[in-house]
Order: sequence, then C-alpha cells, then structure tokens
Amino acid sequence: MDATWSPKDLAFQEEVRAFFKAKLTPEIRRAGSLMTSVYADHELALKWQRILHAQGWAAPAWPVEHGGCGWTPVQHYIFARERIAAGAPPVSPMGVGMVAYVIMAFGTPEQKDYFLPRTLRGDILWCQGYSEPNSGSDLASLQMRAVEDGDDLICTGSKIWTTHAHVADWIFCLVRTSTEARQQQGITFLLIDMKSPGIVVKPIIMLSGEHIQNQIFFDEVRVPKANVLGEIGQGWSVAKYLLDYERGGSAYAPGLRVRLDDIAAFAGREPGGMGASLVEDSTFAAKLSEAQIRLDALEALEFRVMSDASHGRRNGASASMMKVLGTELSQHITELALEAAAAYALPFQPHAAAPGGPTPVFTPPKDGFIAGEPWQAIAPLRYLNDRVGTIYAGTNEIQRNIMTKMVLGL
Ligand SMILES: Cc1cc2nc3c(=O)[nH]c(=O)nc-3n(C[C@H](O)[C@H](O)[C@H](O)COP(=O)(O)OP(=O)(O)OC[C@H]3O[C@@H](n4cnc5c(N)ncnc54)[C@H](O)[C@@H]3O)c2cc1C
Repeated sequence: MDATWSPKDLAFQEEVRAFFKAKLTPEIRRAGSLMTSVYADHELALKWQRILHAQGWAAPAWPVEHGGCGWTPVQHYIFARERIAAGAPPVSPMGVGMVAYVIMAFGTPEQKDYFLPRTLRGDILWCQGYSEPNSGSDLASLQMRAVEDGDDLICTGSKIWTTHAHVADWIFCLVRTSTEARQQQGITFLLIDMKSPGIVVKPIIMLSGEHIQNQIFFDEVRVPKANVLGEIGQGWSVAKYLLDYERGGSAYAPGLRVRLDDIAAFAGREPGGMGASLVEDSTFAAKLSEAQIRLDALEALEFRVMSDASHGRRNGASASMMKVLGTELSQHITELALEAAAAYALPFQPHAAAPGGPTPVFTPPKDGFIAGEPWQAIAPLRYLNDRVGTIYAGTNEIQRNIMTKMVLGL
C-alpha cells in the first residue's frame, strides 16, 4: 500500500480535525481522554455515537449501502488517529464493530432492517454472550441449552465476563441446540432481548474497582426462532466469522502512538519539571525507544492488513498477530506510564475518570482529593485493566496456536 498521504488525504485530515474541534464537547472529550480500559463512559460514548451518526460517521467501515463511508484504508487510519488525539471516545465495539457484520452476512432481510439502523444510531447497545463459566478458550464445549418449543427456543444456562451486560439492550449468544452431533454442529447463534423474562445480570468488579463485566443467568428464557442468525445448528460458522472482526477489526497502533507520545513528551519536559529525572534516566529512555520500535513494527503490520482488506483479502493469522502484538505492547506502555507517573500513581482514585460507569467499591472523598495530573491518577487503573487485554477476545496463547497452525502449518 502507498502510505504517503496525498493532498486529498491531508484535506480529509483537516476535515476530521475541524469536525472534532466543533463537535466534541468538554465532557465527551474528558470521557475519551480519561478512559482506563478499551471502553469509555457508557452514556457519553452513546451521546458521541449520535453526533457521529448525524455526520454519517458512526460506522465508517460498514459497506456504504448500510451507512458506511467508503473511505480508503488511509482515511480510516487518519480518522482513528485523529479520534484518539482529540480525546473522542470509541463507539461501543460489540454492536457496530462485531455483530453488525454477521447480521449483514447471515441475517434475514427483516433482521437487517430491524437491527442495522438501530445499531448504527446507538438505539441498541449490544453485549457478547460467548464465554461460560466452564467454556472460554474451548468455546465449542459451551453448554447453555436452547430447546425448541414451537416457534420459540427456551434458553437456560449462564454466560460470564459479559462486558456491559448491565447496560445492554440485546445480547448475541451462542447456545447449544443439540448434543448429538459433533460439538460444533450443535451450536446456534441467537439474538436475545435483554429485557426478556428470566434474565438476571450480576456484576463482576474489576481490580480497578470498576463495573464493566458481568455474569448472566438465563432461566427458561423464551426467544423467537426468528432471532436465530443463520440456521439452527450452524452457529459455529457465524461465530468464527465474527471472531475475525473481534480480533482484527481495529488497529491498535493509532491509540498506542498517542499514549506513547504523551509519555515521551512528559519525560522530555523542561529540567526541573516533573519529568526531568526521566530525561536523565538512560534506562527509561532505552525502554521508551524499544517501545517506539515495537510500535513502528506493529503499525507496518496494520498498514499491510488494511491494504489486504481493501483488496478483499482477509487473513486470520494477521488478525491474531495484531491482537498479540497490540495487547502486549499496550500492557508494556501502561507499565511505562506507571513508571513515569511515579509516586503520583500510588493513591487509588478511580473517581479521576468515570470510564465504563460508576465505581461501586469506592466513594470519592468530599474534598475532591486528587494527586498528580489526571493521567497520573488514572495510570494505575489503566495498568490494572490492561492486564486483561491478553485474555479477552481469545487469549494470546490461543492466538499463538492459531498462528502456528496457519503460518507454520503445524
Ligand atoms: C475483561 C474481559 C472481558 C471479556 N468480555 C467478554 C465478553 O464480552 N463476552 C464473552 O463472551 N467473553 C468475554 N470475556 C471472556 C474471554 O473471552 C475469556 O476469558 C477467554 O476466552 C479465556 O477463557 P477462560 O477465561 O475460560 O480461560 P481458559 O480458557 O480456562 O484458559 C485458562 C488459561 O489456559 C490457557 N489455555 C487454554 N487453552 C489453551 C490451549 N489450547 N493452548 C494453550 N493455552 C491454553 C489460556 O491461554 C489461559 O491462560 C472477557 C474476558 C475478560 C477478562
């Protein structure tokens, strides 16, 4: 791919910058800048999605006929980078970035008409019901039962680690409709209204004190067969199609570049400033350079994958490579940030940001106590939350297994 930005690309960059300058309110910008995980404050992220939707930019990567922008890979990259630099929150990934693509590929005309515009507008917030208490990496062993009853399926079982289930309107679930065939053949992909009777959501609190994940219990939940995506028993193919988007659908480099640049700028501040001792610390400088080199390599890979995608080529091994390199580098950058924040990273102050909702285990002191700059206050929260990057969306060990199979043929 030609990664040189043309005058047209530069004009696009100006357009995007001007849009962010005009439309990002201080509260939405704050929600984006102070994110402590890959999710922003739910309400503000939705508010931002509606602003994007009004501009026609809520789902740039979707096919144009469904509301996408028809941008080139370079334009997507510019948008991603400018979004993070401006402090804008991301759009919730489970809907626009994941289930929408399988609805486009496997949905009936009725399913497409109902779900796609609502997902685009932010009227439906989705969560993903794949993992179960005894099925994570070995997803095909999932046990949540769905028994046919006339025009309905009756669902009983549990899903776990379900991000944003407590605020989601709908869940896309893998359920077991048969135990007779091969494990994979008895699985069905089902869309379930979270308001259905028989659903109970219980919180799982993160180490950072935030409530983002949940366990869901389904007790004889009745779901119309019209909500099956694809055929009954064919859910495994649908699920695998979606996993490709989950692992390789987004670029890590633009966000990591902004975060690393922030640390480098801090470390290079004027002598006597807070970052002064870091400038003189050759060990820290070496770590920073090493991270920048890793980032350059990741960015080159992402450009290649974007280029392949623009020519209609998808490659499961690249998605796994990006996931491994992106999440491991992200964890490393949170460690550098923690080191740079030094003693200011010690106080536990989750109220410094409100990402992913309120913090149920912490009541902020009345005097509004805060130590250090905002980024220093949230550095430890980012560090804690980022540990999960190498677990969710398929652990990095599993990604390495995929790569050895696909690339090395083992
Ligand atoms: C923050 C967070 C958010 C999540 N959000 C969601 C969500 O929204 N929806 C959802 O459905 N799930 C979600 N998950 C679940 C996630 O997909 C699973 O945690 C993940 O697939 C791993 O499954 P497990 O936790 O059961 O671990 P296990 O599968 O039990 O794995 C335990 C360990 O064994 C290793 N291991 C297992 N099998 C192999 C193998 N074959 N080869 C080598 N090593 C192996 C793993 O790498 C891991 O280190 C989330 C998880 C986290 C932590």
